[in-house]
Amino acid sequence: TKWVYTFGDGQAEGSAKDRNLLGGKGANLAEMCHLGLPVPPGMTITTEACVWYYDNGRKLPDGLEAEVAAAMDAVGATAGRRFGDRERPLLLSVRSGARASMPGMMDTVLNLGLNDETVHAVARDSGDERFAFDSYRRFIQMYADVVMGLDHDVFEEILEDEKARFGRELDTDVTAEEWRVIIGRYMSTIEQELGRPFPQDPHEQLWGAIGAVFASWMNARAITYRQLHDIPASWGTAVSVQAMVFGNLGDTSATGVAFTRNPSTGENALYGEFLVNAQGEDVVAGIRTPQSISELARIESGSDRPSLEKLMPEAYAEFLAICDRLEAHYRDMQDLEFTIERGKLWMLQTRSGKRTAKAALKIAVEMAEAGLITKAEAVSRIDPASLDQLLHPTIDPHAVRNVIVTGLPASPGAATGEIVFTSDEAVEAAKTGRKVILVRVETSPEDIHGMHAAEGILTSRGGMTSHAAVVARGMGIPCVSGAGGMRIDGRNQTLTALGVTLKAGDVITLDGSTGQVLTGVVAMLQPELSGDFGRIMAWADSARRMTVRTNAETPADARAARSFGAEGIGLCRTEHMFFEGDRITAMREMILADAEDGRRAALAKLLPMQRSDFVELFEIMKGMPVTIRLLDPPLHEFLPKTAEEIAEVAAVIGVSAEKLTQRVDELHEFNPMLGHRGCRLAVSYPEIAEMQARAIFEAAVEAARLTGAPVEPEIMVPLVSLREELDFVKARIDAVAREVIGESGVDITYLVGTMIELPRAAIRAHAIAEVAEFFSFGTNDLTQTTFGISRDDSASFLMTYRQKGIIEHDPFVTLDIDGVGELVRIASEKGRATRPGIKLGICGEHGGDPASVHFCETLGLDYVSCSPFRVPIARLAAAQAAI
Ligand code: PEP
Ligand code: MG
Repeated sequence: TKWVYTFGDGQAEGSAKDRNLLGGKGANLAEMCHLGLPVPPGMTITTEACVWYYDNGRKLPDGLEAEVAAAMDAVGATAGRRFGDRERPLLLSVRSGARASMPGMMDTVLNLGLNDETVHAVARDSGDERFAFDSYRRFIQMYADVVMGLDHDVFEEILEDEKARFGRELDTDVTAEEWRVIIGRYMSTIEQELGRPFPQDPHEQLWGAIGAVFASWMNARAITYRQLHDIPASWGTAVSVQAMVFGNLGDTSATGVAFTRNPSTGENALYGEFLVNAQGEDVVAGIRTPQSISELARIESGSDRPSLEKLMPEAYAEFLAICDRLEAHYRDMQDLEFTIERGKLWMLQTRSGKRTAKAALKIAVEMAEAGLITKAEAVSRIDPASLDQLLHPTIDPHAVRNVIVTGLPASPGAATGEIVFTSDEAVEAAKTGRKVILVRVETSPEDIHGMHAAEGILTSRGGMTSHAAVVARGMGIPCVSGAGGMRIDGRNQTLTALGVTLKAGDVITLDGSTGQVLTGVVAMLQPELSGDFGRIMAWADSARRMTVRTNAETPADARAARSFGAEGIGLCRTEHMFFEGDRITAMREMILADAEDGRRAALAKLLPMQRSDFVELFEIMKGMPVTIRLLDPPLHEFLPKTAEEIAEVAAVIGVSAEKLTQRVDELHEFNPMLGHRGCRLAVSYPEIAEMQARAIFEAAVEAARLTGAPVEPEIMVPLVSLREELDFVKARIDAVAREVIGESGVDITYLVGTMIELPRAAIRAHAIAEVAEFFSFGTNDLTQTTFGISRDDSASFLMTYRQKGIIEHDPFVTLDIDGVGELVRIASEKGRATRPGIKLGICGEHGGDPASVHFCETLGLDYVSCSPFRVPIARLAAAQAAI
């Protein structure tokens, strides 16, 4: 096996195609070398080496050391230096790079190879002593943190302390002599804290760093990030080792990050930030607030600090040309890192840039219209799940804005919540259902859990490319970063801005689209979808085969779903209609009646309410298909629980509370989800199904009269496992249909079908299809009953299963294709064998999950049905599946 791939000087082993082997970073560095771009020479240790390391008890593979040594010689030859040399030492950066980018999750070490001796060589060689010691102290800080496990706060404290003593405000003001003093304190602190000295041998440093990158693949942050983003642990990470170039070599040096288009809005304009006389981590960590790269962006931001365009026009022009070249080459928006060393530009990274959903749409539409990509590619490039972001509320433009501070508009959308100052508090609060805004000086990967729990994120430091900004955009939650006008006092848990002091628990609102922070609750607008959204959706709609329906029973949900493009209702859960207002009392009366006539009396009260609900749904859906499911849930969901509720129902029915309590006890079930529910209710109490069928047919007649369009209801029988159950219920439905047709004189066409949500139904689908005119896969119950795990109680151990790698996804979120999916496949085939062309759909939660929608396409289902806000996601996912 070859473990190491070199690159540099216009040549490279491997290319962009080798992402799986070299990681995203390594593969793109190789590609940039092939393109002849200025890339410092280096080598990439493959992901296979990392996989080997974990497969063999965290040992490095034989042969790796020799390959690294040979590669180091080659890198040194290109750079004109030697690693460990006392005269012209080669200094290195060591970075991680997985197949998928994992921002901030993995660790980086810069300036590796410096020690008490080589630092003098670097000083002599560069003619800049201050630079040499600045680089050394950075190396010590990073290496001690990342490799030796010493918290970087220790160094921050020493640094702040010494800067105050020397009367220095900025790091860039600290002199070489002062850095030497600080380094002295660093070194003794390391020995004190860790009981061993900082390693002086460059080779020991290098192997320490390589090992740390491999080890960091399994650190808690990386594991959390992988879980959130569905990245398999088995991929491993590559390690890129590269000759250092220095952005901190004085005022003609700089370092920066840029996007070829605006990652927040998608606007086609170079977007980026840089710092003079700095190294990479300064920009990302938000230690100093960076400057704009282009003059236009500087003017727009109102900053008076010069742009790169003004400051270093030649390097800027070259950089701009490279941006264009890379975007055209990769045919996608790029996220770049660069360093300028004494006027000479070096490219350190390029990758497809992360972007907001809004930006993704705009970029895809513009690139397709410019002919750079096809419409199908444009559709395929949008992550369906990210559309959620567009459905977030924004602040009402007419609302009064009590702005206390303004920062950068780091991630769009608006959010209101109580202030919390730590991530743990955010998680605690979210558990109890409180909405919070996480307020930090800056965030780090340790805050991931808190950021996830918060409604929005506010930081006082850091730019648009800071950790907080990047991560919040990825999560689709609003973020305002770098709000330097506020002061956070972590000890007293206060935030002060404009002379106002807010405490933990006070409510603020963030406007992530303008960067404003407002006091209190502010009126919001429901999201309006942009023209770009409409374009992509139109392209998606013409590419997809399956129709997309919605699961809805209230008029509001049905209207929302229509506005998101739903093409009918795939599941109307009628039981949800029985909880509102005084309906629940009539419902309880019905359930608790001990004989049929009592039930019929209560049902007579429910009939007109059901009928008017259905009329409204049919009207909203205007002739589109509407599937109405007969009563399904276990009856215990409706039973009165408190003494008060029992007394109320007892009074209505005219029995004593004691008698009623006794009846409630009789109806108790140990296992209600496997109990008296679904079609079993219709078998026991056919009058319920008859009332519902009557309400549906009468409503169909009425709605057809009101709208002038025929209504063809689809009546769905839940939880069938025996063909005979369906026979029984269908006979009742058909009888009611004949009655209503006779009474109204209007002919009604309708379908009677069933849910397939029990394994027996799937296996006997050929028999059931003799009766059923359609199947709708109820994959919630089908998952529950196939696995034999409760859909209500399994979350806790499913999490453990995921953490222990036993399952990759929660099967209630993403369909278990191998097991539950197999039953769906069998039932589809058997159903079609009996009844060719039988209408097939899915209405479990999986109908809005992109991966599951994909699977439905492979089975050739006719439609998917999902909750209203997921309709756009399903439309896009269905198109991507068909492309
Ligand atoms: C299902 O079981 O998948 C389904 C859609 O029905 P419900 O969630 O109402 O049980
Ligand atoms: Mg169900």
